[in-house]
Amino acid sequence: MKGAWITDQGCLDFTSTFQVTRRLHEERTPYQHLEIYENPRFGRMLVLDGAVQTTEGDEFVYHEMLAHPALLTHAAPRRVLIIGGGDGGALEEALKHPLERATLVEIDEAVVRTSRAYLDVISGGAFDDRRTSLVIGDGIAYVAEHRDPVDVVLVDSTDPQGPAVGLFSPSFYADIAGRLTPDGVLVVQSGSAVYQQDLIAAVQRHLREVFPIVRTFAATVLAYPGVVWSFTMGSRGRDPLDVPADEIARRTEGFGLRYYTPRGHHAAFDLPPYLRAGIDAG
Ligand code: SAM
Repeated sequence: MKGAWITDQGCLDFTSTFQVTRRLHEERTPYQHLEIYENPRFGRMLVLDGAVQTTEGDEFVYHEMLAHPALLTHAAPRRVLIIGGGDGGALEEALKHPLERATLVEIDEAVVRTSRAYLDVISGGAFDDRRTSLVIGDGIAYVAEHRDPVDVVLVDSTDPQGPAVGLFSPSFYADIAGRLTPDGVLVVQSGSAVYQQDLIAAVQRHLREVFPIVRTFAATVLAYPGVVWSFTMGSRGRDPLDVPADEIARRTEGFGLRYYTPRGHHAAFDLPPYLRAGIDAG
């Protein structure tokens, strides 16, 4: 594929274009068009319906920031539920904590199968961990049907289209809130902090209906359109801003983290005024 490029249509008036040297896999699954490409800078990339989901080169940023702020906000998480996330990156980060159980519910078995075959550096053996239980199914139905309590829920979904639309709905968030233990925490990937401010505002509104504490934070994910990506947290217990930096340092010792830091935890919630204004206006 010498000289070939793929374009990730971030939004109507902005795109990211990647040179690709090889397409390692292509498949039309019951849910989406799945491709695995190779890029000189980002390495292997998972692309679903034309949107870059994760890359070997920068997955650590997104997965560390989806997992650790939530797992540190909860004082002692033992049971974690991940919705989506079939590449296994969030699962790998979550299992760095002293968990008893991590359940991953992914709707598309092809994502797990091809991620294990072509992108195993991202999951790093997490699928074979004895604490892992993998469920192939719709996360919306799973949360509605299974009531056993969990401490932390991570929603690592695609953008709100196709099977993921319901993962941004008030009823889904209410079902999750009903399953969380008293100090439970939910984090969802809430889109580009620059180009999807209306989505972030909607997520905040829906979470405020069922969580006393709702905060959005951001991280720089180079492979994503607009780079500044957002995550939104709903907490029934502790405020993420009240987590002492020395506690974060102690509890993440030996994790080998490359992006998330004790002071970075607090800085991530300190959104610049122009972004906060855009989201508040959303
Ligand atoms: N980090 C990526 C992002 O921010 O765009 C998401 C990566 S992860 C691969 C997204 C996963 O969510 C996909 O594998 C997709 O199949 C899964 N997914 C979408 N809707 C789902 C649903 N209703 N239940 C469970 N998994 C779902």
